[in-house]
Amino acid sequence: MSAAAAPATTIGGLPVTVEPTTSPLTDAARAERMRDPGFGRVFSEHMLTIRWTREGGWQEARLTPYGPLALDPATSALHYGQSVFEGFKVYRGADGSVAAFRPEANAERFRASARRLCLPELPVEVFTEAVDLLVGHDHAWVPSAPGQTLYVRPLLFASEPELVVRPSEECLFVLTAFVAADYFPRGLTPVTVWVADHFVRAAPGGTGAAKCAANYAAGLAAQAEAAEQGCDQVVFLDAVERRWVEELGGMNLLFVYGGDVPRLVTPALTGTLLPGITRDSLLTLARDLGMEVEEGRVSVEDWEADARSGALTEVFACGTAAVLTPVGRVRREGAEWVVGDGDTGPVTAALRERLLAVQTGAVPDEHGWRRVVAPLG
Ligand SMILES: *Cc1c(COP(=O)(O)O)cnc(C)c1O
Repeated sequence: MSAAAAPATTIGGLPVTVEPTTSPLTDAARAERMRDPGFGRVFSEHMLTIRWTREGGWQEARLTPYGPLALDPATSALHYGQSVFEGFKVYRGADGSVAAFRPEANAERFRASARRLCLPELPVEVFTEAVDLLVGHDHAWVPSAPGQTLYVRPLLFASEPELVVRPSEECLFVLTAFVAADYFPRGLTPVTVWVADHFVRAAPGGTGAAKCAANYAAGLAAQAEAAEQGCDQVVFLDAVERRWVEELGGMNLLFVYGGDVPRLVTPALTGTLLPGITRDSLLTLARDLGMEVEEGRVSVEDWEADARSGALTEVFACGTAAVLTPVGRVRREGAEWVVGDGDTGPVTAALRERLLAVQTGAVPDEHGWRRVVAPLG
């Protein structure tokens, strides 16, 4: 074997072949591409792939220039949706340091999602060290513009070219990263949300707790209905009684009962909700700030009644992409109400500031959430 082809390094003990681009972009060309990145459009220069087979396990890890995959039309995931993904951000701190936010938590959730979809579980260390390797090579792609981040997208899908319906014998893990635009281009502007009375996202026993491609496909019609109603996002209710609030599109929801000691209520993780890492981080930070935190049930009837009485002072949604989104107004068939004065409340603003301070390393990392990544290559 020639020296050039020999695996130069390992990730989580797995040998990886590193074949970086031979024509890297100039700083000026990269800056130009990063100017208006949108979401999931401007990818960094490299990607990392790992093949898995039932016989041979994880193998053929490679870091290569970013580019298209060649797929057989019979690739199982394209037909049957056996596919899971993740998403988290890499922040450049005020001191120039680059850190991924809680990638170990995403690695664990990726394993849980894979288990539900009968996909192989990638070891946590392979996942996190793959992130170190990719972000290390594409360090210059972590933006320094305010609000911009590098969003990391791990994907695992059934790659076997055979259409018998059973768990795939072959899978492909693909790790890419893209530049994500400022998450608050218009400041913290509250959204208007539509309560879906006819569509459900997840049912007991289903895949609601897994971050799988199919959940997103199933939610698109409800999102389209919300848009037709002039709303920004859709609220999903539970599938059985159709009254318990579950999620807002691809985000978790938190309800604030203001007062001297604010009380935060969020739907409990019943198995039909996606266990958001932003949700978990905010519950922890709220406790740190002396707030009361409760994981329970919120009915859509109480949402309306408590907003009208003034007891419910703020509602916001949270997730990696948008971090925190205030909910100002709620609409459903035959009803419409405002939360608080329809503007961003003080608890929402305080929690957002605190979370961003932790993510960018502006305050001490008391919970060990920042995984600092060194430049490579
Ligand atoms: C990814 C996701 C979230 C948010 O999870 P984070 O880890 O906070 O990004 C919430 N709901 C759904 C349905 C999701 O897919």
